[in-house]
Amino acid sequence: MGGEDQPNSTTSLLSRPYYSGSSSTPPPEKTTTTVPFISLLLTTCLALSVTVAIAILLFSSSLHHSQVNLQISEAIAKFSRPLPKLKHPVVILISSDGFRFGYQFKTDTPNIDNLIKNGTEAEEGLIPVFPSATFPNHYSIVTGLHPAYHGIINNRFFDPKLNETFTRPTGSNVSKWWFGEPLWETVVNHGFNASTYFWPGSMASKGKWTCQEYFCKQFNESVPFEERVDGVLNYFDMPSSEIPVLMTLYFQDPDAQGHEVGPDDPDITEAVGRIDSMIGRLIQGLKKRGIFEDVHIVLVGDHGMVGTCDKKLIFLDDLAPWIKISSSWVEADKAQLGIRPPANYSLVDVVANMTKGLKKVNNGKHLKVYLKEKLPKRLHYAASDRISPIIGLVDEGFTVTQSRPGGEKYCGGAHGYDNNYFSMRSIFIGHGPRFAKGKKVASFKNVEIYNIVTSILDIKGAPNNGTRGFPNKILVPSR
Ligand SMILES: [Zn+2]
Repeated sequence: MGGEDQPNSTTSLLSRPYYSGSSSTPPPEKTTTTVPFISLLLTTCLALSVTVAIAILLFSSSLHHSQVNLQISEAIAKFSRPLPKLKHPVVILISSDGFRFGYQFKTDTPNIDNLIKNGTEAEEGLIPVFPSATFPNHYSIVTGLHPAYHGIINNRFFDPKLNETFTRPTGSNVSKWWFGEPLWETVVNHGFNASTYFWPGSMASKGKWTCQEYFCKQFNESVPFEERVDGVLNYFDMPSSEIPVLMTLYFQDPDAQGHEVGPDDPDITEAVGRIDSMIGRLIQGLKKRGIFEDVHIVLVGDHGMVGTCDKKLIFLDDLAPWIKISSSWVEADKAQLGIRPPANYSLVDVVANMTKGLKKVNNGKHLKVYLKEKLPKRLHYAASDRISPIIGLVDEGFTVTQSRPGGEKYCGGAHGYDNNYFSMRSIFIGHGPRFAKGKKVASFKNVEIYNIVTSILDIKGAPNNGTRGFPNKILVPSR
């Protein structure tokens, strides 16, 4: 806390106070002895003269020193890049969870607008990977891999080889779940520091990345957003060779509100305003350190949000006349469906019977089930044993669940749908030396971000699903 207020070497140098005679001379002590008046006067005059002489010397020396400093700071202002403080490009990768594309128009967002105006923006948003869920997308952003290849195929999933289920609380810091090479591992493999102020996957050790305490924060959603921003800013007060060249920063809003109230509610507007103020706090902290224009800020979200309500429900129990689906088969529901029937069932028959039933049941036309190998190729959602053998795509805003809720309301918001839906898009904004000012680019998938970041950092990334040469479309050449 309060890291933003800690002076750095530049500010403390410039704000060094002038010395003065009064501060270096202790106040005369009151005397009660009887001394001849003339003698006392002479002694006092002599003492005062010496004090004034010392004061003048110190003052002029200090004045000269500060004039030199002023000249140096003017020179720095004229040639602000590269600052000696940043010996290497730095990327701050920020995620605002569930920041649906378009939220930035809901309210005044002067700080996000500043980044957009002076940076590069995906004009119609950033496309998530399927499923448009939090963990798969955050990990695709930092690995450049589709979920089938990075292993985190959903927020919760079963691994038949391990015969274990991944959950966020139990699996976040266990390396065996996390495949691929996340950015923080790539960075430390190249001999630089990286830091993670929260990001899915960051707590798992990978290669040389061991989630060291100072550089890797254990996720705790109750840490105030201000503390997170200040924590990132504090890294810039380290010796230049130790400043992490990649810093992640994560906010769980406005996703938290989106689930509760859906995307069109004053609570969302308020949450968006708060995220904007955190971006403002970061910008101010960087400006205070004189490095705002030299740091790369990449602001993204993991997915969008769409309103759901209790009239848009599909119940698996309704399919019983055609096929009885046990709740133990269901590995994913709500915005997508994942089913793993026991081995003695024919998967083809299960799909056929479900498809027959869905033609008859209420809202059934809004759910389409596939053998995962038959899903549209653009979803890249087959090449992992962790992906359920049968996948159902749910129409936007509909919810599939096992049974009718007893009076429970289902109104709120959801994500996880087909990543083709516009409502599932989030934002991409890049600001800094490698991002052209005011540039707009077409929407792209978040698996491209890994290569964009490694290009800015000028390090060789691991093989991934990003498009070769894509960073050249987004970035300006390095100098
Ligand atoms: Zn999310």
